[in-house]
Amino acid sequence: MLKSKTEAASQFDAALGLGSNMGDKAANLDRAVELLTAAGVVKLVGRSRNYRSAPWGVAEQDWFVNACVTVQTDLSARALLKLCQDVENDMGRERKQKWGPRVIDVDILTYRDQTIRETDLIVPHPLIADRGFVMIPLQEVAPNLKINRQPLSALIKRLDVHDIVPLGAAARK
Ligand code: ATP
Ligand code: CA
Ligand code: CA
Repeated sequence: MLKSKTEAASQFDAALGLGSNMGDKAANLDRAVELLTAAGVVKLVGRSRNYRSAPWGVAEQDWFVNACVTVQTDLSARALLKLCQDVENDMGRERKQKWGPRVIDVDILTYRDQTIRETDLIVPHPLIADRGFVMIPLQEVAPNLKINRQPLSALIKRLDVHDIVPLGAAARK
């Protein structure tokens, strides 16, 4: 039976997390989405607002803009990872320091309901549930998503997310 339009529109294969803390951060996110979808192999389903967030892992660096997108694609998780890395490289991503400054970062947060544990590809992304800057935009585009069978809302309750705010909005005290 055909699915209703709303149901079909809410379907996605993968959720991707985007982040930038160099140059025109919001423009970098736009460019990454443009490049990811340019060939038509990856289709955008949803895109969160842009969020401003404090650096994570390495404190001494500029603040980040983060967003999440959901996409439809026939690519395998591995091929999707390759595409994400091609986009990062095309945009001049340099890897000098772990968790250091970056023009763009594109992570695969989830891929269908798959669990992948390979050396260079772990899905769901291993640190996803500890990162408010991922979970808040992710909840916006995928409110019914579960990570390792846990609803996002339950995972978010454990986090301090008061300072994860849409870009331009004042931080909640
Ligand atoms: P983190 O992975 O903690 O968010 P990072 O994004 O700064 O840190 P990168 O330098 O961008 O880390 O990537 C390091 C490696 O992570 C990549 O070479 C890639 O093979 C691997 N990796 C494993 N799982 C994933 C995933 N789900 N999405 C993207 N990269 C992944
Ligand atoms: Ca990352
Ligand atoms: Ca990454």
